[in-house]
Amino acid sequence: SPSGTPPLRVEGLVKRFGGVTAVDGASFEVESGSLTGLIGPNGAGKSTTFNCITGVHEPTGGSVYFEGEEITGLKPHQIAREGLVRTFQIARELSEMTVLENLMLAPQGQLGESAIRAVTPGLRGAVVEEETALRERAWETLEFFEIDHLAHEHAGNLSGGQRKLLEMARALMTDPEMVLLDEPLAGVNPTLEEKLLDRIHDLRADGYTFLLVEHDMDIIMENCERVIVMHQGSVLAEGTGDEIRNDERVIEAYLGE
Ligand code: ADP
Ligand code: MG
Repeated sequence: SPSGTPPLRVEGLVKRFGGVTAVDGASFEVESGSLTGLIGPNGAGKSTTFNCITGVHEPTGGSVYFEGEEITGLKPHQIAREGLVRTFQIARELSEMTVLENLMLAPQGQLGESAIRAVTPGLRGAVVEEETALRERAWETLEFFEIDHLAHEHAGNLSGGQRKLLEMARALMTDPEMVLLDEPLAGVNPTLEEKLLDRIHDLRADGYTFLLVEHDMDIIMENCERVIVMHQGSVLAEGTGDEIRNDERVIEAYLGE
């Protein structure tokens, strides 16, 4: 993206479910190439914000811009084609397929059928060549996450932590520029947790942008250079980990949890 243009800008985002206002005028920006943390007490509206940004929910109000273009209300596959994705839990149908099949199906699932070529550049038409390129990309991604030894295992047989690696690998198969991670370390053992964080830092060094929701404050403070705090559907504070840690309003918001 052109320098100075934030890849993600959320303006006055509102999402209501009947009488419940889950997001209530949230505004923030995520800088290009950053690993930014999004925190807030349970029910603050973090997951709903992710779902509004990535098209899973249609916002009730406000706007979302990605790389300067408005994407408000677009469908998830349209937003994924722009290079913005979130991770998803492996659905039941996919747990009966192998890890390799899960990766090979990811672009089709997230980008829509006609966009597979987007991740297999240089190939025109030939279905066999396309599949070969997709398979190569899938193997590279499996190796990157060190789960290539599980390629032929059913996804449903993976441990909780291995499944989290697979979820992130699937998101990367769409060749995104920015990935939204909603509690990617939940239920992950310390060894895999470190591996996942290392991979996130590797990808960030390659230019990917991440917005990370994570309950463990220490993980956020140690890994994110910038932190956005949500409370009751809007942004309460923003800053570095140290600034956030010492912010009276933030401390108060968490005390009420
Ligand atoms: P967080 O991820 O920060 O814990 P959520 O975005 O999941 O918060 O939820 C924010 C609020 O919106 C909560 O009060 C939650 O109960 C409500 N909410 C979330 N999704 C729905 C839904 N689909 N229908 C009704 N209420 C919802
Ligand atoms: Mg949540």
